[in-house]
Amino acid sequence: MATTRGARITRTTDRPLAPLIRRWLIAAADRMIELAPELTELDARIGDGDHGINLARGMSLVRDAMVAAADLEGAGDLLRRSGRLLVGSVGGASGPLYGTLFLETGEAVADDGDTRSLGAALERGVAGVGRRGRSTIGQKTMLDTLVPAAAALAAGADPTTAVASAIEAARRGCESTRAMVAQRGRASYLGERAIGHLDPGAVSARLLIEALEPAARDQPAAPTSIVPSR
Ligand code: ADP
Ligand code: MG
Repeated sequence: MATTRGARITRTTDRPLAPLIRRWLIAAADRMIELAPELTELDARIGDGDHGINLARGMSLVRDAMVAAADLEGAGDLLRRSGRLLVGSVGGASGPLYGTLFLETGEAVADDGDTRSLGAALERGVAGVGRRGRSTIGQKTMLDTLVPAAAALAAGADPTTAVASAIEAARRGCESTRAMVAQRGRASYLGERAIGHLDPGAVSARLLIEALEPAARDQPAAPTSIVPSR
């Protein structure tokens, strides 16, 4: 009796977003590492050919951190840690931008939230990318994928619908960069010669959003473990 009086018990399921965030970032890292040669090839066409190499380096650190993360770390902790790893390890434009995305999403996210509240937090993170990059939708960047995807995730009626519509929005947004002239980043030096090519950052952002699907699908159905709080 005395040992339990006043003690707070935290169920891991009180923080349902944290396991989802771990699965999401691990799945995203796996895809970005697997497709790094393609991302680099896209960047070689309209940039300097390092996007896949840059991201694979950073996301493999993120992957290791998510695998090693303690069960009681909240969603915000996990996202902020990932953001710091990306800022610290990825050169080029995309490191600070993806770093900002994760850091600011991590600041905004509620540990006890659901997929939709993750969408609202992601919208804040995406706004942070726009501020950091002085960029907006329509300029042939990762934002063309991220802005509509975050909005769709935030607006979904239920988690499954939210994730499906976010992925659809991400794919459409990514594809829309093909017709654009770039106004930010190295591709902007090419002018009209960038038309016809997908933006590499829009494609890596699409991989990030697509990774929500396996992460949400593997959501454990029922509460299982009870662990003491810190
Ligand atoms: P770098 O351009 O420094 O070589 P990367 O190749 O890793 O960096 O990343 C390039 C991607 O970064 C672009 O495809 C674009 O999506 C994104 N990007 C570059 N500048 C901006 C910006 N100002 N705002 C948003 N995204 C940007
Ligand atoms: Mg590059």
